Amino acid sequence: MKVIQTIAPGSSDGLQRMCDASQSGLALCFPGVGSAFARQHDPTSLIIAKQGVTLLVDIGTTIPRVLSSRGIGIGDFDYYHITHSHADHIGGLEELLLFSHYVLKKTPRLILSREYKKTLWDHSLRGGCEHHENGKFRFEDLAELIFPNQTAESPREIYELEVGGILLLIFRTVHIPTEGDNSGSKFWSTGLLIDGRVLFTADTRFDPLIFEHLPMDNVDTIFHDCQLYEPSVVHASYDQLKTLDAGLRSRMHLTHYGDTFQKFDPSADGFAGFAQPWAIYQ
Ligand SMILES: [Zn+2]
Ligand SMILES: [Zn+2]
Repeated sequence: MKVIQTIAPGSSDGLQRMCDASQSGLALCFPGVGSAFARQHDPTSLIIAKQGVTLLVDIGTTIPRVLSSRGIGIGDFDYYHITHSHADHIGGLEELLLFSHYVLKKTPRLILSREYKKTLWDHSLRGGCEHHENGKFRFEDLAELIFPNQTAESPREIYELEVGGILLLIFRTVHIPTEGDNSGSKFWSTGLLIDGRVLFTADTRFDPLIFEHLPMDNVDTIFHDCQLYEPSVVHASYDQLKTLDAGLRSRMHLTHYGDTFQKFDPSADGFAGFAQPWAIYQ
């Protein structure tokens, strides 16, 4: 994928531009490319569009405001998907649910696995969302939940779904290494293979088995989590990613990066570069 244009601050038609770009095929754009603690960038979040259908992946705490800076409302998307429960990925999700219910009077369509649904509601959302003036909400009262089908359990859990012509393969990642190896993690975290050609890891520690467990033949672009300092524990570090072979690195745009990015030269190290906020990739 290549950058075809960048949506400037103050634009009033950010999502329309994405929809227009998507008429000829898949288009991607990152409202944020930063790490959880970055100040130069907003938390990593991804807009996917194809033939006018839009999907927002992850809603970190500042994402509703960041979307507004390009004329996009948090309720404007056809679908939503959440990769895991850290605040830089779900901090704005309560706003989506309550704003949609009370102000927009609509129910957002949220793609998530049955396994993750209970964790997300019970451990994160219930505190702010459950009680209302006349009783209690359930998760399904505030979102239309769309469950993907599980298509593999081993060596890695994989779920699949097609929405609006966008094929999503949702794969488990090892972001928090509870069990000390890459075979699994008690902490729910996932990445996405989009239309078989774009791999987005979301948050993961260094885990080259991803490239063995997924069908990589048609993947032309990889957006990979990257921590810019050592030691790495729950993210893949820049130095670890540098050890991958050149064929992977040349397709790899780095996301979820911190404020010291200007000290690095990813193209000199064989990467495609740092993913750029609000660039439309096609
Ligand atoms: Zn994160
Ligand atoms: Zn995380």
